[in-house]
Amino acid sequence: MQRFSCECGNVLFFESSQCLKCGHDVGFDPGSRTMVRLMPGGAAKWCDNGVRYGVCHWVVPTDSAAKLCPSCALNRTIPDLASERNRRLWGRMEAAKRRLLYTLMEIGITLPGKKQNAKSGLAFDIVSAAANPTVTMGHLNGVITVNLEEADDTYRQINQQQLGESSRTLLGHFRHESAHYFWMRFLSDLPWDDPFRLAFRERFGDEWQDYSTALRHHYENGPPAGWEQNYITGYAAAHPWEDWAETWAHYLQIRDGLETCESLGIRVQNLSLPLVLLPAEAGNLPAMLGSPTDENGEFLAWLQRWMCLSTVLNEVSLSLGESSLYPFVIPVGVARKLRLAHYFAEVWGR
Ligand SMILES: [Zn+2]
Ligand SMILES: [Zn+2]
Ligand SMILES: [Zn+2]
Repeated sequence: MQRFSCECGNVLFFESSQCLKCGHDVGFDPGSRTMVRLMPGGAAKWCDNGVRYGVCHWVVPTDSAAKLCPSCALNRTIPDLASERNRRLWGRMEAAKRRLLYTLMEIGITLPGKKQNAKSGLAFDIVSAAANPTVTMGHLNGVITVNLEEADDTYRQINQQQLGESSRTLLGHFRHESAHYFWMRFLSDLPWDDPFRLAFRERFGDEWQDYSTALRHHYENGPPAGWEQNYITGYAAAHPWEDWAETWAHYLQIRDGLETCESLGIRVQNLSLPLVLLPAEAGNLPAMLGSPTDENGEFLAWLQRWMCLSTVLNEVSLSLGESSLYPFVIPVGVARKLRLAHYFAEVWGR
């Protein structure tokens, strides 16, 4: 995440809705990816979901017919707002979704809605499993479904414990499901021997293995012993599609985390820590992708900066009596998958 500033010069954050120095209302303008002031007669107005429900602080141009910001406009289903609790949980969901969309915007990936593109456009169903017990989180044909109850910390933490996960966040859910969407949009229609598909298979395995059988096996038996050597999470070992989704989510997490640190001035060159060196082959891509090696070097440097900074974040977190902020280890096999995720991001964001 970037560091933002107000027209008065004061620092603002992505979630700011008012400048504490000049007192003006401020909101995020997705068009310019900056924070703007909201003035009477000004060029920007609040998204309608902000005005009516207080769940959004993005703005839309005053002269536009659109009432909803690009993030809220992607919603196909929202929870029943008669419940005050639903409203509160919905606000948390929207906040996480906006963070995902911000990173995707910054990568340069456009996100058409279903109205613009019925086949490969994107939509969100935000549904409460309390009201709809059959709902499951996931992606199907461009529609990402998330369970509103996951925005309840207790509910989510119980799931996290039961599933043995080291981390479970709303933002992580959105990032994970976005990977399934991008798989459908950018990869699923390519011929099986397309270089992208081959590179995918080489890293993540044979995606044709039966998905429901693989998932059932995972939930009955858990991840295989030694999964840490090849996967970023235990769930990633369930099926190549889930490995991809967990890897992509992790890629976005590193990208956002590193950007936040560096935009706020936490930089490796200021730390009294050595860079954690990965073996050089971690950055290699097959020659068929034709990626110049200096790009691999840049990627490796990027990953090393994160490994170094995340060590600092973990130490600070432990100093505060909390558990590690970043409870992950990146083995070489995972670094190679992250390299492919980075390559896909560069291509899709062009
Ligand atoms: Zn200000
Ligand atoms: Zn909005
Ligand atoms: Zn998944």
